[in-house]
Amino acid sequence: MPELPDLEVIREVLAPRLAGVEIVAAEVRRPLVVRNLLGGDAAERLVGRRFTDVGRRGKFLLLPFDDETTLVINPMLAGRIRYGEPLSRHRSRDALVLGLSDGCELRYHDAKDMGKVYLTPLGDLTRVPGWADLGPDATDPALTRDAFRGRLRRHTGEVKGILTNQSFVAGIGNAYADEICWQAGIYPFRRRPSLSDDEVVQLYEAVQITLAGAIETLRERVGDAIDVEVRDFLSVHGKAGQPCPRCGSPVSKVTHGRGGRSETNFCRTCQPGLMHGGRQRRL
Ligand SMILES: [Zn+2]
Repeated sequence: MPELPDLEVIREVLAPRLAGVEIVAAEVRRPLVVRNLLGGDAAERLVGRRFTDVGRRGKFLLLPFDDETTLVINPMLAGRIRYGEPLSRHRSRDALVLGLSDGCELRYHDAKDMGKVYLTPLGDLTRVPGWADLGPDATDPALTRDAFRGRLRRHTGEVKGILTNQSFVAGIGNAYADEICWQAGIYPFRRRPSLSDDEVVQLYEAVQITLAGAIETLRERVGDAIDVEVRDFLSVHGKAGQPCPRCGSPVSKVTHGRGGRSETNFCRTCQPGLMHGGRQRRL
């Protein structure tokens, strides 16, 4: 799932390439994924538009146009954005294909059809589902330690659940929440009220260190291949059974959610804590 660091690097790659470029052809291949909130035919509205910039907020990517409208992409679990030489064939889960005046093309592909692409007025992004509830970006300089502490007080649930709640802060998903908890040395299922003042500071610093470090790594690793998700450098997420980079203990895995779809990875040595409740399954 693309999270803040992935989308920030995609933004950095696309912004200089797309600014000023015109859409010369547009094909909506999966209408359920591409939602035109302006009404009318989305492909027709897109042809002739010129990109002005590329923006990001939380886990949303914004592609604003010269007519005060914008595409807002929410890739959810499996959405991928590809920019490059036109492909000779279509893949079945390509949802939107834009031919560009620079000879390249931009594609949105979604293996699960869970993500969405919205075409909407730039001045009214609250029409995009999930947008109005977004908290500050996790890397927003205005999210100071005090602001973070103040927002955290409103929540009483488990630390990982709070980190991935986009109304708390925007941009953190399953993978980077695991990394942040590991960086902070905090058991992901601890309840917020049990955190000491020092642990709250550790958590805040872990958010900043983890996300900034990931952006730096991804800048070097991703290059132009923005449709490939790079996750092998993470410390614990997706590393069940492998040695913790800090202490060498095997990384643990807990599955939860409906059908065990979600997975949490952590180190029982570096992040001590007791499982509570019956909904989690220990593996
Ligand atoms: Zn460890």
